[in-house]
Amino acid sequence: MTDKFTMTIDGAGVGTEATLPVVNPATGEVFAQAPLATREDLDRAVTAAKKAFVGWRATPVAERQALLRASADAIEAHAKALGELFLREQGRPLEGATAEIHQAANWLRTVAAAEIPVEVTEDSESRRIEVHHEPLGVVAAIVPWNFPVLLAIWKVAPALLAGNTMVLKPSPFTPLTMLRIGEILRDVLPAGVLNIVSGGDELGPWMTSHPGFAKISFTGSTATGKRVMESAAKDLKRITLELGGNDAAIVMPDVDVDAVAQQIFFGAFWNSAQICVATKRLYVHADIYDALRDRLHGIARMIKVGDGAEAGTVLGPIQNAPQFQRVQALLEDARAAGLNLLYGGDVPQGKGYFVPVVIVDNPPEDARVVVEEAFGPILPMIKFDDVEDVIARANDSPYGLAGAVWSRDVDAAVAIAHRLDTGTVWINQNLSLLPNTPFAGRKQSGVGIENGTAGLLEFTQPKSIYIPKAATA
Ligand code: NAD
Repeated sequence: MTDKFTMTIDGAGVGTEATLPVVNPATGEVFAQAPLATREDLDRAVTAAKKAFVGWRATPVAERQALLRASADAIEAHAKALGELFLREQGRPLEGATAEIHQAANWLRTVAAAEIPVEVTEDSESRRIEVHHEPLGVVAAIVPWNFPVLLAIWKVAPALLAGNTMVLKPSPFTPLTMLRIGEILRDVLPAGVLNIVSGGDELGPWMTSHPGFAKISFTGSTATGKRVMESAAKDLKRITLELGGNDAAIVMPDVDVDAVAQQIFFGAFWNSAQICVATKRLYVHADIYDALRDRLHGIARMIKVGDGAEAGTVLGPIQNAPQFQRVQALLEDARAAGLNLLYGGDVPQGKGYFVPVVIVDNPPEDARVVVEEAFGPILPMIKFDDVEDVIARANDSPYGLAGAVWSRDVDAAVAIAHRLDTGTVWINQNLSLLPNTPFAGRKQSGVGIENGTAGLLEFTQPKSIYIPKAATA
């Protein structure tokens, strides 16, 4: 592999004259350049994907499945180099960075085993009605920087399995690993089936307004999701929007604090809290509040925050400068409001985007740090003593992505889970998302579904065919 990165359009490498600087968030320094797609590059990618769609949709499903499995093998064969590149552009320490490459490969393999169902809604003496699921055409995939590979593969795998072709755009903050994967897959997938383009802020809007796309599959913030929906409305493109969250976790008084503290901590802070389904509001019963707070604060003080390239680092930097500024502003607001902030250990000085781990000790419900999605390591921990009240508080949010309940009484926890207005609820666990299980945000956390059969079918158009039993017209 070279230090040069190219887009993949129609199975070939494409560079651009102007380029996009890519910063290592641990150092604040530019370490590579990515192509900066022009409108003509995007047009070429859409044209290639349209052309490839004809052959790809006609390719037997078994062959498409085999090519997805071969893609998984090819990615995995480069896991080490891809993990190292991921660390440099995204900031996550190597173990977690490499893990995402393996997860992406496994995701491809699991989705490759899925079947596209044919439903029979009537099979009577006179007729048979079959519901087939046809591919839509060319899909635009737009992904964020927090899980730049896995969230891309969440789109690539089902879209391609279903017979669509794709133009994928990584985030301008983390374009490199997916560009590299595009280069690797040039030898595996037919030309034009998966095109990968990188660019600046203008590329996303060019894609959502491009008439060549049948569908937009978008993961990112709620604010951008609304712009995507508006743009897609012009020609009624299909959309799936996976957006922001402000997930509540409810910790009941019967938990073993020592046993759950570590998992609750990482459910909030892993990937430096840059996870759509991280715990972002931690509601803890008053009886165990002090004990859990002290335990979490103890873990926070022991965790090494730093350059992921250094041994022992558990949490890397915030991924990019604008997000770093947003998190700092939120922290400043919490300080100015006189909230009680419990800090973790030291963070490196210098130009890297480092923020300490902070637990906000029982802030008021209307504090910005409670109401807003922080997407950084500032966790509000809030006391409750009444279950009805805490369910109401958890649900009092424009978001509805996921949530968690912690209790030794699993039945009672399930009863609470049924009353949370979210698409996913974990009991005594967190952050687990699977290829065969639907993931769908409620309220302003999203539109549509990813994963599971329901997610796969979002890349298809149902076609109901009424077939008479006798050949009379
Ligand atoms: P973002 O919305 O700023 O950007 C996401 C992607 O959209 C990027 O590729 C960006 O270049 C592109 N984009 C920006 N403006 C666009 C426009 N007008 N039209 C089309 N595309 C445009 O989000 P981000 O900061 O990269 O990611 C963080 C957010 O993503 C958080 O809110 C997080 O909760 C959310 N997220 C959600 C999920 C989920 O599955 N629900 C998963 C991960 C992240």
